[in-house]
Amino acid sequence: ITSKRVSVGVIGSGNWGTAIAKICGENAKAHPDLFNPQVHMWMYEENIDHHGETRKLTDVFNSTHENVKYLKGIQCPSNVYANPDIRDVGARSDILVWVLPHQFVVRVCDQLKGYLKKDAVAISCIKGISVNADHVCLFSDIIQERTGMYCGVLSGANIASEVAKEKFCETTIGYDPDRSVNPLYTAETIHSLFNRPYFRVQIVKDVPGVALGGALKNIVAVAAGIIDGLELGDNTKSAIMRIGLAEMQKFGAMFFDCDRLTMSEQSCGIADLITTCLGGRNRKCAVAFAKTGKPMHVLEKELLNGQKLQGATTAKEVHEFLDHQNKVDEFPLFKAVYDIVYEGLPANKLLEAI
Ligand code: NAD
Ligand code: 13P
Repeated sequence: ITSKRVSVGVIGSGNWGTAIAKICGENAKAHPDLFNPQVHMWMYEENIDHHGETRKLTDVFNSTHENVKYLKGIQCPSNVYANPDIRDVGARSDILVWVLPHQFVVRVCDQLKGYLKKDAVAISCIKGISVNADHVCLFSDIIQERTGMYCGVLSGANIASEVAKEKFCETTIGYDPDRSVNPLYTAETIHSLFNRPYFRVQIVKDVPGVALGGALKNIVAVAAGIIDGLELGDNTKSAIMRIGLAEMQKFGAMFFDCDRLTMSEQSCGIADLITTCLGGRNRKCAVAFAKTGKPMHVLEKELLNGQKLQGATTAKEVHEFLDHQNKVDEFPLFKAVYDIVYEGLPANKLLEAI
């Protein structure tokens, strides 16, 4: 056992956050030469009803090792500790894994300022993008700019509840730090932190390609859900997925110089697109949207028990960005999703619009 072992922290404890903390906890135990055994997972504190008693979510997790609100029925390893103090998690971590809904990222970065280790690195598992005035930002870049940590990206066809049940899947990690990053945090270290027999990790250098795949497929999943809600069938849904993939690749190549192969060959591209369009939360809420006409934010509250949706907000942000660039018409599927969700275009006009 080397004297310098890497401490791992996880920021976020929702559906995916808890599943990722479980993986990191298992690997911290499996590689005691590399990692400190305890993994601190920042948990946004909330009171919950637990068997008729009001209790803190952290207390329930730390006594049962189950996140009863966001990942019910799954036992996490006992070395994962739910910590409600974000600054404490930041201060003790060498590798900080970010897994929270994208709307909270900037605030959390600001809360962590001045509390992070000097040479810590980050991995973002967040699927979303942010638009500032006239440019589009990846969350990995936002984390890097606001905290000073080098930030790679993990994204793939990874529905959290299935990964948590240890059903086999693949994932992609975009990780390409320059030499200024602490040599302890090599791609091999990152691989050892995430790879499990049921969670196969592939590491690539195209960090923006990995991040964009995870963000843009959420827009396509909304379109796929609309198709399912209208009961138009599998051929139509496949057409939506194909057109969606082409727009994702075009967006990546036009604005980020991404490698088109990242989206067509890696789990973070084609595979994630398929899984999200078949079984994700964006698809589920979009089915209900097409059937009931209720706004997406209402359906998010009604159907997801506190979990958050990314597809509708990403469609809006991408639309605003493309509008600034005068490129809206080059992305008809992205435009149609925006028009249907935000501008009152009837859902049954989707096919006409593309
Ligand atoms: P989630 O949708 O389960 O979100 C709930 C989380 O948000 C909880 O941890 C909750 O405590 C937290 N939260 C609520 N209010 C908050 C506040 N004011 N400040 C900070 N946190 C607050 O989250 P998730 O499923 O873990 O998703 C995180 C990211 O992972 C997203 O970008 C998502 O797209 C991505 N992702 C999700 C899945 C999945 O299957 N769930 C799979 C892959 C990637
Ligand atoms: P949803 O957020 O639509 O559930 O997608 C989950 C996901 O990203 C699977 O890879």
